[in-house]
Amino acid sequence: MDTDNKFDLIIIGGGIVGLWSAYFAAQRGLKTVLVEEHGIAAGASGGLLGALMPHSPDRWNAKKQFQFEALTQLPSLVDELESRTGQQVGYQRVGRLAPILKDHHVDEVARRAEGAKEFWQADAGTFAMQQMEAGPAENWPAADAMPFGVAVENLSARLSPRKLIMALAGALHGSIDLRFGTRAAFLGEKQVTLGDGSVLYSDKILVSAGLASFDMLRPYAPQIAGRGVKGQAAMLGTNLDPNLPIIYSDGIYLIVHDDGTTAIGSTSEKEFKEGRETDHLLDEVIEKARLLSPLIKDAPVIERWAGVRPQAQGRDPLVGALPNNEWLYVATGGFKISFGIAHLMAQAVIGAAIEDTDAPQIPDAFQPSARFAS
Ligand SMILES: Cc1cc2nc3c(=O)[nH]c(=O)nc-3n(C[C@H](O)[C@H](O)[C@H](O)COP(=O)(O)OP(=O)(O)OC[C@H]3O[C@@H](n4cnc5c(N)ncnc54)[C@H](O)[C@@H]3O)c2cc1C
Repeated sequence: MDTDNKFDLIIIGGGIVGLWSAYFAAQRGLKTVLVEEHGIAAGASGGLLGALMPHSPDRWNAKKQFQFEALTQLPSLVDELESRTGQQVGYQRVGRLAPILKDHHVDEVARRAEGAKEFWQADAGTFAMQQMEAGPAENWPAADAMPFGVAVENLSARLSPRKLIMALAGALHGSIDLRFGTRAAFLGEKQVTLGDGSVLYSDKILVSAGLASFDMLRPYAPQIAGRGVKGQAAMLGTNLDPNLPIIYSDGIYLIVHDDGTTAIGSTSEKEFKEGRETDHLLDEVIEKARLLSPLIKDAPVIERWAGVRPQAQGRDPLVGALPNNEWLYVATGGFKISFGIAHLMAQAVIGAAIEDTDAPQIPDAFQPSARFAS
């Protein structure tokens, strides 16, 4: 065997999950190769929204706790990444406003605010949710878009998905073997055959190929299933205050980025023919978004984008070792929250692969073995 092609870890897929995994593998000193079929940010991770929004702080569970820990850890990792690479990723904890659309939702917000007191306490008093008459800025959202006020919280953040991807690739340059434009054509036991017929070897292989992960794992774990849910989003050429909070209303996001542009999204399409094309469904999202604030009413659309989110069956992310195959690991299925949790998924799965019991633990519900039991 050619020792140049023998690695401590092979990572398949260079989306947000694969890149963070490579980042922590390099930090652990693992000789790592990352194989990415297309270019950088080619899959779902190449989008433009970048909302980092917590699940509601009620009916608490392991997934919500994992996400909370990930969201509170991210700023320090972003600082580290930015100072290492000199590249900014457009991260800011701007908080979120959710218009209250129905009378009886006021009680729900009060219940969640109580939950936030209990579950969102990294440092006492840091994060909270409350009901308010309106947001801090006029027309953000429009008065008639919030008939019963707004639920306001200060845990949500935003970043630029593409800038983060670029910074991670920059940090990895020179510390791992990065193979962009290289397809993992066949996954065999402890080896991966590439599109050009060459073979990579490793005792540990991590599949983080987004939607393609489910097909790739099927020969080893037919019990594991997942699907793709298409999403469409747009960027508006605004010049708004980047400190404005995210607006999230009835499935529509408005996110002002650090350059003043506003990302809006998104559709959720379980049935679709073309995963990368935008259509009238995006026009409807744009129309609804414009009704939420006069500040974006006439702003030009400067980009339209579509991608397919990987969603593991059962809706929880899929992270950990495949039962009965001690060499095979998976990390995917973050669905709509991947950018807020990918770094913790990565630390947990790399920790599991090198048997580091001090590494963040993978919640039982995320483990492939949980899918085997059901
Ligand atoms: C419209 C839209 C809006 C979204 N908004 C948000 C948001 O605001 N916040 C958020 O957190 N999440 C959001 N998401 C979800 C998020 O983008 C995804 O969950 C995330 O990007 C998934 O990352 P991933 O690394 O698992 O997969 P991907 O980014 O899809 O990466 C998988 C990679 O594997 C590569 N690959 C596949 N097969 C092979 C192979 N055989 N060999 C080599 N490489 C291969 C692909 O080319 C791809 O680059 C949104 C998604 C969409 C579509």
